[in-house]
Amino acid sequence: MLQLPAKGLEATGTSTSVGRNSFELPEAEGRQPAIRVPRFPRIIHESILLWGFLMSLPRTLGELRRSEFSEERLRNRRVKDELRDNLIARLRQRDDESIFPGIVGYDDTVVPQIVNALLSRHNFILLGLRGQAKSRILRALTTLLDSHMPYITGCEIRDNPYAPICRRCREEVARLDDATPISYLSPADRYVEKLATPDVTIADLIGDIDPIKAARGGHELASEFTVHYGLLPRANRGIFAINELPDLAGKIQVGLFNIMQEGDVQIKGYPIRLPLDLAIVFSANPEDYTARGKIITPLKDRIGSEIRTHYPATVDEGISITAQEAWTRRNGHAMHLPVYIQQVIERIAFAAREDKKIDKRSGVSQRLPISAMENVISNAERRALSNDEKLVVPRISDVYAALPAITGKLELEYEGEMKGADFVGRELIRAAIAKTYDEYFTGANVQQIVQWFDLGGEIQLSDSVAASEALENLKEIQGLTDKLGPLGISQKESPEQQVSAAEFILEGLHAHKRIGRNEERVFKAGEKKPEPQREKAFDADERPFRQRRQFN
Ligand SMILES: [Zn+2]
Repeated sequence: MLQLPAKGLEATGTSTSVGRNSFELPEAEGRQPAIRVPRFPRIIHESILLWGFLMSLPRTLGELRRSEFSEERLRNRRVKDELRDNLIARLRQRDDESIFPGIVGYDDTVVPQIVNALLSRHNFILLGLRGQAKSRILRALTTLLDSHMPYITGCEIRDNPYAPICRRCREEVARLDDATPISYLSPADRYVEKLATPDVTIADLIGDIDPIKAARGGHELASEFTVHYGLLPRANRGIFAINELPDLAGKIQVGLFNIMQEGDVQIKGYPIRLPLDLAIVFSANPEDYTARGKIITPLKDRIGSEIRTHYPATVDEGISITAQEAWTRRNGHAMHLPVYIQQVIERIAFAAREDKKIDKRSGVSQRLPISAMENVISNAERRALSNDEKLVVPRISDVYAALPAITGKLELEYEGEMKGADFVGRELIRAAIAKTYDEYFTGANVQQIVQWFDLGGEIQLSDSVAASEALENLKEIQGLTDKLGPLGISQKESPEQQVSAAEFILEGLHAHKRIGRNEERVFKAGEKKPEPQREKAFDADERPFRQRRQFN
């Protein structure tokens, strides 16, 4: 019987030299300095073009009339017409690109519904749980706005030069006519977002009457000159997004409805006419939105389309989103991020969304795998730095080290609270490992590895141990490093990659309770089973019969 000591903490003295000599890798993946040089003149060329274009934009109303921004084209063109026109153009020229670049997994579900809503010129609401990219979709609508939109210079509510609604601008156009100065807004300037909270007031959203303004200017209180505009008028001729709509007080919802429907509103009892031009979009949690009494009926009636968002349907889709959002390309060390690590991280979120100990109504945000991924890489980076390794390769132990990025994103039910977020988090990681392990090793013969532990072998694999040192220890386990094939790893690969893959197998066996592991990360034999002969091969037909008779 072989009893190997835990070697994880032994200093071998060779690890640093191995690390230094073997890996002459570029500083960071994805950098290709060679193509920077020919690109340079193009950037200058483009900026000259842009500068020229900006300089040629009409600066007065007279110039505007004679330009492509003619009265005929712009006078009656509302924001929703603009969104529709630009969407139609995009649908026509679309090759294989998505309508909303960067929105993953919604091509067949959410995106067609949004397209329909925009073609219908609807105000719409996105209903979905947290972390389903609702805000991201709403922000992507700005890509459907014109690159430059003219307005009357100095107007607080960005008046249409051909049809100003504020009195200041009407008077200015009457006085200056063709000489009225014109400025331009970019798409980003035309997007306003507000998180609804119960303390949002009419003053915040629509405006207030400013008595001091009235007294100074000698105006009547209800005069337009005395209004201090709120967010909605200041978003005029743009997109206004309200997140978590049901949190808005009933009175404010009424104000919102009046602006959308009638173009007028009462502020402190004074009727104020504000025929604003807005595309109003909303987001909400479906449970809140459908709860009776949370949304006033006339407002609900005015929201043309209700569109349900969802979490990624497949692990691969989740991986693409996480890869896009997480900060993985860091300066410094070269990194290799194994696919099985990505799958484990993603499956933590999938497992959490199914788990009874976690609140279904609040959901499990896609930000969980994103933050977890960032922490996993950081832990691997920390190990590489302290061991002077040139290649960063995350391991499963780094996933456990990322618990702080996981637990905070779980809303626990009573049972979960009793067990504690840490416990629940570890269980989810373990379930994610087991499933991912099965994807690669179902049917593989790992008996030799299990036997090594059953015969008394033990190995410690702390998350800080250098790869060269860990690999030497792992090679003591007969058969282990030959089994890395399904993970695409051979013995030619770097020690960092081999260690990560070998540790994944051990963690997989541990997740399936084939071998044991304690809190010091010492892998050893599994719990002694009541029937030791269970490991022996016996007739498969016998198994269900035996299990049925067990009572524990
Ligand atoms: Zn104005």
